[in-house]
Amino acid sequence: MNEFEVIREFFARQPVARPDVVLGIGDDAALLGVPAGQELVVSTDLLVSGVHFADDAEAESIGHKALAVNLSDLAAMGATPAWFTLNLSMPSVEVKWIEGFCRGLYALAGRYQVALVGGDTTRGPVTIGIQIMGFAPAGKALRRSTAMAGDRIYVTGQIGDAALGLRLLQGGLQIPEAFRASVLARLHRPEPRVDAGLKIRDLATSCIDISDGLAADLGHILDASGVGARLELERLPRSPAYASVFDVAGWEPALAGGDDYELCFTAPAAHERELVKIFAALGLACTAVGEIEAQPGLRIFDKAGALYQPVKTGFDHFRRV
Ligand code: ADP
Ligand code: MG
Repeated sequence: MNEFEVIREFFARQPVARPDVVLGIGDDAALLGVPAGQELVVSTDLLVSGVHFADDAEAESIGHKALAVNLSDLAAMGATPAWFTLNLSMPSVEVKWIEGFCRGLYALAGRYQVALVGGDTTRGPVTIGIQIMGFAPAGKALRRSTAMAGDRIYVTGQIGDAALGLRLLQGGLQIPEAFRASVLARLHRPEPRVDAGLKIRDLATSCIDISDGLAADLGHILDASGVGARLELERLPRSPAYASVFDVAGWEPALAGGDDYELCFTAPAAHERELVKIFAALGLACTAVGEIEAQPGLRIFDKAGALYQPVKTGFDHFRRV
């Protein structure tokens, strides 16, 4: 198969039909209709083989995750996802691999009704660049820079499992058989919290998705908002799988483990009752883990009320070691 056959066979036949795709794949550019009164919300993420996924990772999971991490960015903005483009490089045309990749990609695209509207296909090491686009009512998107002293800090779902999955794969951690599949699923098939992002848009003061670990990502909110926070370790929402290895793993997976793709957001205490209703309806956990304070810096407290010093705060591609 040559480049054009790959495009025709796998990408021109993307499954999602949207009336706002005025012109999709096949021309020099796509034409998209942004609804009146809405702002276009755009984000992109690059996944590189050997950096973001193992060389032998399952193609279907790679397809899922490449789109999931992008959807997660729109979730964190409180935006409605609508369209995406796909830049793909691969060393050769492996039909089985592309089929698997498209299965994972299109299953998730179908669930959120996001249409693939263009891209580029070249030869090279396996690299996947997705750009996602969506919209939010003008002035209403959630930002990192607007947390206020006195706000509560919330985390959706449970955190730390993706990091446990990675440590399991790398052979650095023993996890009971019964929990292995669930931590690996958290690593390979993250679930973007798109619905939660939309539902909290008018209640939250700020939001970020947890891709590099709670301490680091909350730190971005604090820096951007010019505030600080106190975090209560005991409150961090952890799964039964995490509980089973807590004695060995400690707090690090929850505080500094990446790849969870849960949302961390802030909201005034007055909105808590409303939030409880929203998350009950979503069937998703949402836990208050601390509070925004005027004094800059992140202060983490253990059960006894003592200040806790994290070993490591999060992932940084260019950290000097
Ligand atoms: P150009 O030469 O203008 O870059 P291409 O031949 O690369 O055009 O692409 C032809 C059409 O196929 C364009 O509409 C482009 O957006 C689309 N396309 C190419 N690669 C992909 C891909 N990986 N996913 C989705 N659409 C793609
Ligand atoms: Mg091209």
